[in-house]
Amino acid sequence: MDLAGVAHEIERVVVTEDELQAKIKELAARVDKDYEGRDLLLIGVLKGAVMAVADISRAMQRHVEIDWMAVSSYGSGTKSSGVVRILKDLDRDITGRNVLIIEDIVDSGLTLSWLKANLESRGVGSVEILSILRKPEAAKVEVNVKYVGFEIPADFVVGYGLDFDEKYRNLPFIGVLAKHMYS
Ligand code: IMP
Ligand code: MG
Repeated sequence: MDLAGVAHEIERVVVTEDELQAKIKELAARVDKDYEGRDLLLIGVLKGAVMAVADISRAMQRHVEIDWMAVSSYGSGTKSSGVVRILKDLDRDITGRNVLIIEDIVDSGLTLSWLKANLESRGVGSVEILSILRKPEAAKVEVNVKYVGFEIPADFVVGYGLDFDEKYRNLPFIGVLAKHMYS
């Protein structure tokens, strides 16, 4: 769905579709180069990373495997608590694999730092993180995100996989949700 379809629900566009797609190509090229000659398993974090995994994997010029995890971080409404529960685990063993976690956004970073530690405990060869967006809050947490698409302000954003109440994931751009939609 394009901007016209949600004009009164989006306060402003933070990252346009063109900017997103250009960044996807750039990130995919970096990953291609960094993992040259090594195996690579992309792990998408459901459901927010669906669009990112689909676009980045198709922009890469190499073989990759793709697996998915679903986690829920307990918290009130729009804040996560760092207490994470696995809703869907990986289909395959990852011992010795080079893993790249793909996320939609790093906010507090609590979810990702938990996930990274969890995967490391399974005897992986390596684990790195790619996130399309990073909020300022993330700077406070000890989680090293190797590939970041865009640094954005602390506002609540939707689109390109990011939801509010499961909606807006299918917007091809990222925008700030209008306050009247949730207050
Ligand atoms: P963290 O543990 O605080 O880093 O939370 C990360 C998760 O919170 C993301 O994977 C999103 O699902 C969700 N999240 C954080 N900020 C936003 C936002 O602005 N819009 C939609 N979801 C968000
Ligand atoms: Mg998420």
